[in-house]
Amino acid sequence: MLTAFASCRITYSPAYTLVPTYECFNRCSYCNFRQDPGKSPWLELPDAERILKSLMGTGIREILILSGEVHPNSEKRTDWCDRLYELCELALGLGFLPHTNAGPLSFEEMARLKTVNVSMGLMVEQVTPTLLETVHRHAPSKVPGVRLQQLAWAGELKIPFTTGLLLGIGETPGDRQATLEAIGQIHQRWGHIQEVIIQPYRPGTHQSGEAPGLELKELPAEVARARAILPEAVALQVPPNLIEEPEILLACLEAGCRDLGGIGPTDEVNPDYPHLQVDRLKRILEPAGWELVERSPVYPQYHAGLSPRLRSHLIQAGYY
Ligand code: SF4
Repeated sequence: MLTAFASCRITYSPAYTLVPTYECFNRCSYCNFRQDPGKSPWLELPDAERILKSLMGTGIREILILSGEVHPNSEKRTDWCDRLYELCELALGLGFLPHTNAGPLSFEEMARLKTVNVSMGLMVEQVTPTLLETVHRHAPSKVPGVRLQQLAWAGELKIPFTTGLLLGIGETPGDRQATLEAIGQIHQRWGHIQEVIIQPYRPGTHQSGEAPGLELKELPAEVARARAILPEAVALQVPPNLIEEPEILLACLEAGCRDLGGIGPTDEVNPDYPHLQVDRLKRILEPAGWELVERSPVYPQYHAGLSPRLRSHLIQAGYY
C-alpha cells in the first residue's frame, strides 16, 4: 500500500550509453569502467553513427555520453572535448537527446557542451576529504571542492543537472548528510539540480581495489534521508539494476524515490549488473500500485529554459 506520497508515477528515461573512451587518468580503486590512458581506442564518429542509426525507431531517446577522463593538461584534451561535442551533434542530428557526463570540465568546456546537451551530469559521490586517503588516493578529479565547483558552474550556466551520492565507499553517515546538504545548498542558490542519484556501491569484477559496499537494506533509509534534506523539486533516483531484491526497490519508492534513471542495454559503470528492462520493472512496480512512465533527459520544469535549438529537438522527440 502506498502511504507517504500522493503520486504513484515512477519515471525512467529510455537511454543508450555511448562511451567516447574508457581511458581515465584517475584510478578510483572501486572503478569497473576505466582503462589506462592509451589502452582504450576512442569511439570514431562513423562507428558512433552506425550505432545511433541502429537505435532509430527503437524507442531510445536519451544518448548518455559517458566518458573516462583525459587529463586537463594532456595534449589530447582538446581533441577529447571536440569528440564529446561531435558525438552530441551527431546524436542531435539523428533525433536523440544528449546528456553528457565526462568528469570535471573547465568553465569554457562546460559552456560549449551546454549548447549540444539538454542536460548534463556529474556525481558528487561524497564531499569528505578522507576518501582522498583511501579509494580516491589516485583520483585527483575526486577532490570534493572540484566536484562542488562543477555543480556551481553548471548552475551559473543554467544547465539542468544530474548529480548523486555513491554510498558504501568508506564514508560515514555524517559524511552522507554533509554531501546532501552541500548539494542542497548549491541547488538553493542556482535552482538547476533536476535529480540526485542515491547509488549503492556494488562490487564488480574489474575493479583494482576494494570499498566496503553498502548493505542494500540500508538504502531505503538513505533515500529517506535525502528526501528530508533536499528540496522537494529535486527528484531522487535509484538504479534498479543494483538492487536485486524487489522489496528493497519498492521500499526506496516508499521512502521518496521517484525515478529509475536511464534504462538501456548496458550499465557501462556497473557492467556486472545488467539493467532490468522495462517489462520486468513493470512486473515489480505495478502490483504494488506504481506506474512506470517515460521521461525526457531534461525534467519538465527546465524545458522552457533550453535554447530554441535544443527545445526544437525536444519537440521533435515528442517531449514538449
Ligand atoms: S570512477 Fe570515474 S573517475 Fe574514477 S577511475 Fe573510474 S572512470 Fe575514472
